[in-house]
Amino acid sequence: MNTVKSIVHPGNTGTLRSGAALADAGLIAPRNIAGADRAAGRLPIALTPDIVALIDPFDAEDPIRRQFVPDARELAVSPEERADPIGDVAHSPCPGIVHRYPDRVLLMPLTSCLAYCRFCFRRDAVGTGVLAEDDLAAALDYIGDHEEIWEVILSGGDPLALAPRRLATIIAALDAMPHIATIRIHSRVPVVAPGRMNEALIAALKSETPVYVALHCNHPRELTEAARAACRGLADAGIPLLGQTVLLRGVNDDADTLENLMRTMVACRIKPYYLHHGDLARGTAHFHTTIAHGRELMRQLRGRLSGLAQPTYVLDIPGGPGKVPIGPCYLAEAADGLEVEDCEGRKHPYPPVA
Ligand code: SF4
Repeated sequence: MNTVKSIVHPGNTGTLRSGAALADAGLIAPRNIAGADRAAGRLPIALTPDIVALIDPFDAEDPIRRQFVPDARELAVSPEERADPIGDVAHSPCPGIVHRYPDRVLLMPLTSCLAYCRFCFRRDAVGTGVLAEDDLAAALDYIGDHEEIWEVILSGGDPLALAPRRLATIIAALDAMPHIATIRIHSRVPVVAPGRMNEALIAALKSETPVYVALHCNHPRELTEAARAACRGLADAGIPLLGQTVLLRGVNDDADTLENLMRTMVACRIKPYYLHHGDLARGTAHFHTTIAHGRELMRQLRGRLSGLAQPTYVLDIPGGPGKVPIGPCYLAEAADGLEVEDCEGRKHPYPPVA
């Protein structure tokens, strides 16, 4: 199992939001303050105390640091990178809604987060605040008017950063729509601010319509005791938990880390759901891995982990056509039928030769 590491930084009582605050906390050198603030012009800086406590200030390659501390490389944009890498804008019929697939919509009641991930695929859209009251009402009307919608995915921004009363109002409005069968909430709050998962916030998620929480978690060290307690609170309230992980260079792009992460998730009653290939958001090239490497990692996980702990490796096709599985295929056409490959790479005819 993972080693949970928590480092005490003197004076760390609030969210760090500037290059100077990062330098004061010993997370960057004073000479890098201006560069961090320039990166913050593209995506705000926000490191909660829980995240700061996880970073080893003496390890320049610390995987938690890499995810949250701005880096001058964010200012370099590769030709293939885009402001809207998965085509949200083209599929947005009104503010706060992305309707890409017939039976599901994204509802984005806010674009802010408690902590900002430097690789965020919506990094050009997040950080601006809460959806205006009349825009939220229009977004809910849109969902109410489209009876083909089966599932509503609250995303953003981080929906669990909303005040419990506002969140409860949104859940109740969706719960009252007979055609909505499932509500899913994408969040990083149980990891970045686990203390926020109190009774009031969990009570706000109670509804007749099943509510799932998909936790974004990229490294086993993120599942601290406090994060585990937050997940326990959700699971004990009857809320199923799914795990979403982004494959990130220098964070989790090795089989040992991924295996540890998936096992830790299952131990926290989180079903690993997706391993996302990193989207081509602007200024994120230093996080990218190749698809060939991702497929090789999935092959290694297949041999190491129970099916319960296997995520599906997916790519959101740039521009907006949607998400597809891109993991390795174990079945191939052969001269006289099919050939199936086992976890050790051995090939077997199918059906078996008599
Ligand atoms: S929590 Fe999600 S939306 Fe917010 S910065 Fe991280 S990846 Fe982006």
